[in-house]
Amino acid sequence: MITFDSLGLNEALLKAIEDMGFETPSEVQEKTIPLLLEKETDVVSLAQTGTGKTAAFGFPMLQKIDATSRTTQGLILSPTRELCLQITQELKNYSKYIKGINVVAIYGGASITDQAKNVKKGAQILVATPGRMQDMIRRGMIDLSRVEYCVLDEADEMLNMGFFEDITSILSHTPNDKSTWLFSATMPKEVSVIAKKFMYQPEEITVGSKNAGTKNVSHEYYMVSGRDRYPALKRLADAHPDIFSVVFCRTKRDTQRVAEKLIEDGYNAGALHGDLSQNQRDMVMRSFRTKQIQMLVATDVAARGIDVDNITHVINYQLPDEIETYTHRSGRTGRAGNTGVSMIIVTQSESRKIRSIEKIIQAKIESKSIPSGMEICERQLYHLAQKIYQTEVNSEIEAYLPKVEEVLSDLSKEELIQRLVSVEFARFHNYYKKTKDLNTPSGEPREGGGKVKHNKKDSTRFFINIGERDDYNWMNLKDFLKGTLNLDQDDIFHVDVMDSFAFFNTPNEHREKVLETFNDFSLDGRSINVEVSEKGPRGGGGGKGKRGKFSGGGKRNDRKGNTKNWNDFPKNKKKGNSSGSKPSGFGRRKRS
Ligand code: ADP
Ligand code: MG
Repeated sequence: MITFDSLGLNEALLKAIEDMGFETPSEVQEKTIPLLLEKETDVVSLAQTGTGKTAAFGFPMLQKIDATSRTTQGLILSPTRELCLQITQELKNYSKYIKGINVVAIYGGASITDQAKNVKKGAQILVATPGRMQDMIRRGMIDLSRVEYCVLDEADEMLNMGFFEDITSILSHTPNDKSTWLFSATMPKEVSVIAKKFMYQPEEITVGSKNAGTKNVSHEYYMVSGRDRYPALKRLADAHPDIFSVVFCRTKRDTQRVAEKLIEDGYNAGALHGDLSQNQRDMVMRSFRTKQIQMLVATDVAARGIDVDNITHVINYQLPDEIETYTHRSGRTGRAGNTGVSMIIVTQSESRKIRSIEKIIQAKIESKSIPSGMEICERQLYHLAQKIYQTEVNSEIEAYLPKVEEVLSDLSKEELIQRLVSVEFARFHNYYKKTKDLNTPSGEPREGGGKVKHNKKDSTRFFINIGERDDYNWMNLKDFLKGTLNLDQDDIFHVDVMDSFAFFNTPNEHREKVLETFNDFSLDGRSINVEVSEKGPRGGGGGKGKRGKFSGGGKRNDRKGNTKNWNDFPKNKKKGNSSGSKPSGFGRRKRS
């Protein structure tokens, strides 16, 4: 068996490794550490998240730099503040027996002058996010001219987040003869471009197959109708009482909404997305780490910094726009030797994405059914019994026991158990006893060859103040509504687009949701107005006649005209004006 001893690490590091309780090197450590210790070379190392990459570059870097000199010799770039802090902490743990080592974290959202002061004191290693690093270089607070080792950690993520230019500029301030060590979970084209541009004949180390997910994660999908997404999520949570999970949504708005609903329904949930302040985000993450939050609902961008080791489930409430992102999502579980499950809630219209993901992760995604109400009750019951069995008895309860015993004295052990368990069980049983099966038969078309018949009487017709003039046709308007309302293909029908306004129908059950969503909604700086239409063309009356009343950009909701939601903007909208000025650094950049 390979040991850390045999990799060539010095005493100080071995001692720290022992303190941390690492017994054997992980595969990426075993392959990378000796190479980096022996040779001055550039390296591209590909390994999944949670495989111990920090130590794979951290140990060699700490061993090779001169702790008696106070110049900056090592630079580590990492995509997020969270990761930056995490790497800094890890390096501090690794170097606790190396005298004089100073590792400084450089990241946005904290005082730049404090960070500059810490660097001035003599930091041999800087761990930085590209944005703040750039800033400090520009202000002349940093000298990178003596850097010998430069790490690009999570290179794929940094590129996804649009840091290419920052990285290029930062590296231009470092010497040409330094060694560059690139670490990444996946190898998209952009990472190869970086490797070609900044590295000289890099040695390549691959752990597992390129772009593949970890072996520790199993993948499952659940086919439901779009309107059952949320009830399905609840059931998945209820069926796993000890769940500790990240729930991924596509937009910030959905993230917030799902989290709020879960909280309302009594779950320990929280939202993590870019509209929260750094303080709020820190608070949510703290609650998550301490497991006060069991279900963290997050956007892909916000979840990048999540480095919690014992997440049991990743739930894809909606699939990501770019399926490559799936690997990053599922990599949040199954870390540090634990196993995890990645669940996908999917509608029939998205089902072909499942096959594409299977190709990328090179693993099978198993089709599963949402547990029935009774199954959930059963699981909850056993869980409760386990919990009672494992409960530690609080000694302070002694004083009250005689009274309690007196009250319960007439009951036999069996009766006592029955009642004790019923107290909890009743809650779930009452909720689930009348619920239906949520699974849609996968692969089979719905009644009448896939087309659902809609009854006009059971649906509501809506007016919306955008039309052909805004480059909409029935198809892209339907897409836009579907995405914004998070409804199924079949839930939006009879879409009629006029010049400056349009009509559409949804089943009555979505009426409130539509009104609520579009209450105070704006797109592209313009207020969107949706109202129930008493007489749209298909509702049985002249729609055109309403034009005077409704056209001209909904006055009702002008209060907060700046709540843009770029994510919901139809992709095929081709207007070349303000819609093109997407703020940089927001959302992911398009892969070329
Ligand atoms: P990655 O950067 O590949 O996502 P990390 O470096 O963050 O992975 O490591 C994931 C976790 O595994 C951390 O908690 C780390 O302390 C732990 N770890 C790293 N190497 C080992 C090892 N050889 N043995 C046990 N635990 C390890
Ligand atoms: Mg890492």
